Amino acid sequence: MQFRDSPEEATFRTAVRSFIKQNLPKDYVPGDPFSEDPAGPFVREWRGSLAKRGWIAPHWPQEFGGAGMTVTEQFVFNEEMAEARAPQVGGMGVAMIGPILIRFGTEEQQKEHLPRITSGEAHWCQGYSEPGSGSDLASLQTRAVRDGDDYVINGQKIWTSGAHRANWMFALTRTDPDAPKHRGISMLLVDMKSPGVQVRPLITMAGDHVFNEVFFQDVRVPAQNLVGEENRGWYIGAALLDFERSNVAGSVALKHTVADLVQYVKETAGRGAPGQVTRQVRNELADRAVEAELARLISYRIISMQRQGQIPNYEASMNKLFRTEAMQRTTQTAMRLVGMYGNLYRGAKLAPRDGRWPHSYVAAVSGTIAAGTSEVNRNVIATRGLGLPRS
Ligand SMILES: Cc1cc2nc3c(=O)[nH]c(=O)nc-3n(C[C@H](O)[C@H](O)[C@H](O)COP(=O)(O)OP(=O)(O)OC[C@H]3O[C@@H](n4cnc5c(N)ncnc54)[C@H](O)[C@@H]3O)c2cc1C
Repeated sequence: MQFRDSPEEATFRTAVRSFIKQNLPKDYVPGDPFSEDPAGPFVREWRGSLAKRGWIAPHWPQEFGGAGMTVTEQFVFNEEMAEARAPQVGGMGVAMIGPILIRFGTEEQQKEHLPRITSGEAHWCQGYSEPGSGSDLASLQTRAVRDGDDYVINGQKIWTSGAHRANWMFALTRTDPDAPKHRGISMLLVDMKSPGVQVRPLITMAGDHVFNEVFFQDVRVPAQNLVGEENRGWYIGAALLDFERSNVAGSVALKHTVADLVQYVKETAGRGAPGQVTRQVRNELADRAVEAELARLISYRIISMQRQGQIPNYEASMNKLFRTEAMQRTTQTAMRLVGMYGNLYRGAKLAPRDGRWPHSYVAAVSGTIAAGTSEVNRNVIATRGLGLPRS
């Protein structure tokens, strides 16, 4: 494994850094809800700068409006963006449905949707999970029935991130209820303004409006919005372009959180609670620092595999599992450190670091559920990684 940049990578890293320095809006404050509002002025300005450079969709081929970066360039790009705590743009349009349309979409679908994703005009959400289908996604029940030139959808999705802002959804629907469960699923592109689509907010226990329930009642979707072949949606959903899978941004975020805690302890040590440097605090912070470094090394392992043309499998599960559980431990350490001040939330005068840690402590719970639970990832590591038999 190579930890140092090659000369080309070092040049590219310098270019990304200087781009960020010149273009990240001066008054942008990382972690501040106004600064990070996807519809707010800072993100809009930042998106415009990225778009001019073709950097909204780093991993897409250039003919579709992407930057055509290699996996190594994407890694450097993502690492530098995370180090600068720059706002993330593009969302699921860039990360998920764009690559699917590039590979499986019709020419009309590509012409209609791809430019609107890279211009930031289209906001997409992912309609996969249902009340009875999460880890066992292939059991999904939302029905789509062909009727003339349309499909008619009835059913419900849940935990749909960003559906309240989205104008389009890529949805997995059941088109053949009699086929084996993986073979009766189709992917449809649903205009969220279609009559019969209803979005209801779900507020997380951290008090954020992140996801929603989405109900479909006799929603008509033109048949040309079918992606790929009917009943092959399961396999389409699983296929993505050759994109960087290390999630280096997540391990950099973990490192920043630990560094922020250490800095806080240094600033407040000897000045009374919160932030007493007890032996327990010292030991815990040392553990958290080691874990943050380990998370970074797992990211490097994955990018190193991708550089050699290998496809990370159980390694991606190790990465997700370790990083999200380490983030939970880090926020627990933060809460122990600030003691009773951990009851003070954003906006409270005496809240350490403006109540950032109580919020992340609660919000970090969802990290081990979203995009594959810890239990499911442990199963993958046990069976595919260690070769243990299924129970
Ligand atoms: C913040 C957040 C954002 C999300 N955004 C989206 C989104 O945009 N679109 C979308 O479609 N979905 C989204 N989801 C849903 C997410 O994909 C599901 O929550 C996840 O797949 C788990 O499914 P579930 O909630 O139905 O739990 P279940 O699958 O019902 O699991 C319940 C419990 O059983 C355990 N379990 C399940 N199967 C096994 C097994 N085989 N072996 C051992 N244990 C098992 C799980 O680990 C878990 O502890 C989001 C979730 C979160 C938390």
